Amino acid sequence: MQTPAPFEYERATSVEGAIASLARLGAEARIIAGGHSLLPMMKLRLAMPEHLIDINDLTELAYIRELSEEVRIGALTRHVDLQRSAVLARHFPVFADAERVIADPVVRNRGTLGGSLCQADAAEDLSAVCAAVGAQVVIGHSAGERVVPMSEFHLGPYMTEVGDGEMVTEVRIPLRRGGGSAHEKVERRAGDWAIAAASVAVWMDGGTIADAGVALSAVGPTTIELTRAQDLLRGSTPADELFAQVSQIASEDCSPSADGRGPVDYKRHLAGVLAARALRTAIARALAQEV
Ligand SMILES: Cc1cc2nc3c(=O)[nH]c(=O)nc-3n(C[C@H](O)[C@H](O)[C@H](O)COP(=O)(O)OP(=O)(O)OC[C@H]3O[C@@H](n4cnc5c(N)ncnc54)[C@H](O)[C@@H]3O)c2cc1C
Repeated sequence: MQTPAPFEYERATSVEGAIASLARLGAEARIIAGGHSLLPMMKLRLAMPEHLIDINDLTELAYIRELSEEVRIGALTRHVDLQRSAVLARHFPVFADAERVIADPVVRNRGTLGGSLCQADAAEDLSAVCAAVGAQVVIGHSAGERVVPMSEFHLGPYMTEVGDGEMVTEVRIPLRRGGGSAHEKVERRAGDWAIAAASVAVWMDGGTIADAGVALSAVGPTTIELTRAQDLLRGSTPADELFAQVSQIASEDCSPSADGRGPVDYKRHLAGVLAARALRTAIARALAQEV
C-alpha cells in the first residue's frame, strides 16, 4: 500500500492554535513536522490519522539557544541545524556525531528533533543522545506546559508521554562543568538505521568521572538507558578495566532481536564495543575542555 488513507489537513499558524486543534480533534489528530517518519507510516497504513496539523510554519519553534544554565532547542529544529550548531559543537558534540550518520541530507534538511523524539522508534539516534545528556522534554498543552525527563519520555515502542491535546515544544539540556560526549553507530550502509548505536556523556571533576549518561539505540524495544553503567562510572577514574566493565554491561543489559541487520549475539557484542568507544571519546573530549 503506497497511498495514505484520507485525512484532513490544517496548517498551524501559532503554537496555541496547534494545541487548540489537537485538543479539539482528540486522539485522531497528529502533528506533522518533517514527515520523514509519519508519512512512510501513513503510506504503509501503519498510521491512519484523520487530521494532520502541519507545524512547519511555526518558525518560533526552530532555535538553539544557550542560556546561563542550559541549552534550549525548539522542537522544530531540523537535523541539519543540530549538525551545524556551534553551541552544540562546543557543549554537546554528541549531536554532531549522531547527525553525521542519521539518514542522508534530504532527510536531515527536513526531519526535526521533536519528530525524532516523538516517533519513539528504538533505532532513533537522537533519543539516545538526549537520554545520555540528561535532556528534559517540554510538553505544551492548553493550560501551560509540563517538563518530563528524557528517561521517562518514552513509554514503549512508538509510545510517549505526549497525550491528546499536547505537543512537544522544546528540549532543555542542563549545562554542567567538565562535560564531554560522543555518539558511535554501526550501520549496514551509509544513511541506514543503526544496527546498534551508543551515546555517552560524562562530566569530569579533575581526573574523576563525577556523573555519566549512557544510552543505546536499536538494541531493544526502546532506547536503553544503561543505569548500571552510569552507577559504575560515577566516582570512578578512567581506566581500561573500567571501559571493559562498561562494555560488558552494555552487552548484558540490552535486549536486541535478530533481524536483517544481524543476529542477537552480534548486536550485543556491537553494543558493548560502541559503548566503550563512545565512553573513551567522551572522556577525552571532557579532559581536553578542562585544559
Ligand atoms: C530513509 C530514512 C532514513 C532514516 N534514518 C535515520 C537514522 O539513521 N537515524 C535516525 O535517528 N532517524 C532516521 N530517520 C528518521 C528521521 O530522523 C526523521 O526525520 C525523524 O524520525 C522524525 O522527524 P520528523 O520531523 O520527520 O517527524 P514526523 O515524521 O513529522 O513525525 C514523527 C512523529 O512525531 C510526531 N511529532 C512530530 N513533531 C511533534 C511535536 N512537536 N510534538 C508532538 N508530536 C510530534 C508526529 O505526529 C509523528 O507521530 C530516517 C528517515 C528516513 C526517511
